[in-house]
Amino acid sequence: MSSPNTLTELLYAAPSEGIAVILPEAGIRVTYGALREQVVSLADALRAAGIGRGDRVATVLPNGLPAVVSFLAASIAGTAAPLNPGYRQDEFSFYLEDTSAKALLCPHGGAAEARRAAEGRVPVYSLQMDEGGFVRITDGPGRPGAGRTAAAPSPEDIALVLHTSGSTGRPKRVPIRHSNLAASARHIVETYALSPADAALCAMPLFHVHGLVASTISTLLSGGTLVVPAKFNPLSFWRTVRDCGVTWYSAVPTIHQLLLSRAGDERPAGAERLRFIRSCSAALPPDMMSRMEQVFGAPVLEAYGMTEASHQMCSNPLPPGARKPGSVGPGTGVKVGVMDSGGALFPTGQRGEVVIQGPNVVEGYENNPDANAASYTQGWFRTGDQGYLDADGYLILTGRIKELINRGGEKIGPREIDEVLLTHPAVAEAVAFGVPHPTWGEEVAAAVVLREPQNEAAILAHCKERLADFKCPKKLYVVKEIPRTATGKIQRGAVAAALTGK
Ligand code: AMP
Repeated sequence: MSSPNTLTELLYAAPSEGIAVILPEAGIRVTYGALREQVVSLADALRAAGIGRGDRVATVLPNGLPAVVSFLAASIAGTAAPLNPGYRQDEFSFYLEDTSAKALLCPHGGAAEARRAAEGRVPVYSLQMDEGGFVRITDGPGRPGAGRTAAAPSPEDIALVLHTSGSTGRPKRVPIRHSNLAASARHIVETYALSPADAALCAMPLFHVHGLVASTISTLLSGGTLVVPAKFNPLSFWRTVRDCGVTWYSAVPTIHQLLLSRAGDERPAGAERLRFIRSCSAALPPDMMSRMEQVFGAPVLEAYGMTEASHQMCSNPLPPGARKPGSVGPGTGVKVGVMDSGGALFPTGQRGEVVIQGPNVVEGYENNPDANAASYTQGWFRTGDQGYLDADGYLILTGRIKELINRGGEKIGPREIDEVLLTHPAVAEAVAFGVPHPTWGEEVAAAVVLREPQNEAAILAHCKERLADFKCPKKLYVVKEIPRTATGKIQRGAVAAALTGK
């Protein structure tokens, strides 16, 4: 296999006539040649609109060809900054400002809240796919002219900017280089022996590293086919798998759970072509893994990924390698260690903070010296996850040091929820926390102390106006005072335990 170091090189790794993307609802098949043509054409249009190296291009797009094409084109002309279309206007305002976005790409006639946030600040361009499966800009300020060509990026250029929620303060900006993405894609192709014969169903959103790297660019690197439904739908999932000859998919446990609960005991038609199923971004319970293997009849490989590692860090191997339930497997192209808080590495079997090193790991957060000082020790990146390595070098995750709520793979910084609750005039104190949930893994709840009587629904409505649905607390505990530890500190885990008994 050739070894591309940029997304441009990666895009040219496969022969032109192979099928790169299938859009199952529209019945459209896009060849590698046609994908390249439209990525280059959109990159040139962005260049003509003034986008240069390092300029951030925000995108707010549902899964589909425009999301794939704009990610690649934006990262070639400048830097792609995909945003969750579920955000509210205030959230879009924060992300557009934080990334210093120079352009915003939206679906033709869609993304109203993002457009409002961009008004008067960021030029907005509409994208549309025609009936032949070609994506282009349909309108925008001063319609970009022709005749400019986006120069090929270098491996050191920042291809993608994403955010991760922090324990403290606002989300942190993660600049991911072309070389980081190329390394991560290479590791994934090697782990699962991906080839042009494979077809991956993209079940994860294309604004998260899981969907962008595990499903999309690893498939493009291997010359395989990416099947992109408009959204995950458990009702049509297996029909798509069967009709499009899908050989693997990657998803969070929440999606596996939704598929399992619909499947009953019978193997769904189409599942017989699956070489494997990949699970990542949240813990996969061992009994769910064995049930999936039993019903779907394919090996289930749990992996471990994070944005700062351009996604994959570890994975259980394909058979005949051993896959261990409850473990995320050995490092895949990365060194994995376990460290104490002082920076000393622990021997096998001892529990501590998981640390990593590798060509896919970013060099640091952008414009955030405090986070960098806390996250990098002697060349190792501290993941904020807790675990240990077994005698075979397999990593077992045991918990989290960082304060995050992991709702079906979507990470939520509880501080952000506290801050929104505190903007309500009746709320004097607020502490958000995660509670166990059968489908989502964790769900958001919060404790509030009120300074004046107020009903729960009004406070939740206040959150809904300012936070994407997945971040809104689903349950509020109105308390006289926030439970504290013996030393008078507020610890989210302790608050959760005191109020929910879990
Ligand atoms: P993200 O940056 O959104 O990909 O989230 C990264 C975080 O997701 C990691 O630091 C872990 O806390 C969590 N995570 C990823 N994969 C797994 C897994 N297989 N099991 C448990 N947690 C995971």
